[in-house]
Amino acid sequence: MTSTTVYTTQHAEGITLALSMLDTSSFARQAVPVKLHMGEPGNPCFVSPAVVRVVVDAIRMAGGHPFLFDTVVAYPSERSHRRGYERVAARHGFTKNAVGCAVVIGERGIRVVQSDVPIEVANQIYDANCMVVLSHVKGHIQAGFGGAIKNLGMGGVTKASKRRVHSMSMPLHDADLCTRCGLCVPACPSYALEVDSEWRIDRRTCEGCGKCVLACVAGALRFEHMSLAQGLAISAMACVRNKQVIYVNSLHHIAENCDCDPSPGRILCQDMGYLVGTDAAAVDAASLDLVDSVAPGVFRNATGVDPRDQVAHAVALGMNHCYSLRSV
Ligand code: SF4
Ligand code: SF4
Repeated sequence: MTSTTVYTTQHAEGITLALSMLDTSSFARQAVPVKLHMGEPGNPCFVSPAVVRVVVDAIRMAGGHPFLFDTVVAYPSERSHRRGYERVAARHGFTKNAVGCAVVIGERGIRVVQSDVPIEVANQIYDANCMVVLSHVKGHIQAGFGGAIKNLGMGGVTKASKRRVHSMSMPLHDADLCTRCGLCVPACPSYALEVDSEWRIDRRTCEGCGKCVLACVAGALRFEHMSLAQGLAISAMACVRNKQVIYVNSLHHIAENCDCDPSPGRILCQDMGYLVGTDAAAVDAASLDLVDSVAPGVFRNATGVDPRDQVAHAVALGMNHCYSLRSV
């Protein structure tokens, strides 16, 4: 596999330079969604509107028509419906005046089939020929890590598909193999499991994170269909196929918890600037390598999940994780 260039810069202005070195000719006269998680109320660790402005201005310089975009969430939150998310976005500073383009929240999608899994890609992403995916690098309690693949795989699809990606990794239990040791119970962040004389799950509470499957040394649990990491990679692939996509990962405020958590938790390591490239797997792999270089294994230690699984599954689907870093 040949390597792709991932540009690294310490300053937001360097993103402009990096984008100018990539081929953005297809942006001309096109509507270009800038996919961004605009932050859960209570968690201040999202990418700032000032950084969005830099990306928006660079897209305009390339002749494109940018708009800032995200989808409503599937869990109970002010962001679970369009008007509520618009209010949150405005409170977090994502106004047309500040970011220099319209702020659009999507609720509906178009069904595509990727790797035999039906996925509803948000209309605005489905319709686009090109896109910029702007992602905050941080931990994630269920996926181990959140970067470009997670931003698209969960954030680029409808509520129904978000639920589907989670439900595919719910556990299936084999009573013949279960020793009722109870190891899976404390591994569950959702308190969905009980073990006494028998093993029980509350499937309404289970979020399909897969931690119980990883905790069971007896082999009594397996994923109903696939791991969350694989589901995220498939969903991300459904969002980007047949498009020119540029990825910008922000390695600032690298928190323990995802932007969708009301609390960021601990900051896990120092800020390390921005990464810009044309492959989600490469930009995510470079993000993980940079984090590991200053805080080895910190995401895995914080979450109990291997953050590189997402990248490995994305590579199996055709993405490229081989990269060479170039400073700008
Ligand atoms: S960890 Fe595995 S063997 Fe132990 S109780 Fe849970 S399912 Fe059964
Ligand atoms: S998949 Fe996650 S949320 Fe569901 S029971 Fe297992 S540990 Fe709990």
